[in-house]
Amino acid sequence: MAKPVIDAEKCKGCGLCIKFCHKGLLKKSGKLNALGAVYVEFDKDTNICGGCCFCALVCPECCIEVQK
Ligand code: SF4
Ligand code: SF4
Repeated sequence: MAKPVIDAEKCKGCGLCIKFCHKGLLKKSGKLNALGAVYVEFDKDTNICGGCCFCALVCPECCIEVQK
């Protein structure tokens, strides 16, 4: 099963990955990183990531790596 791994310290909280995940697996964490951004996290309650990599491709900060 695939899984997106997000570098929380590089995330700017733009939300693009959330919009582009057609399965709705990404969400705002509600927590701030050192940049002062509310970073995104993988919703661990779900386990249906298909590994499409859309989230990683649209991230302007290149902070998502999809592990397969
Ligand atoms: S790899 Fe695809 S399905 Fe998995 S979290 Fe990213 S956009 Fe969603
Ligand atoms: S696209 Fe990248 S920078 Fe933007 S919220 Fe998602 S992980 Fe963070």
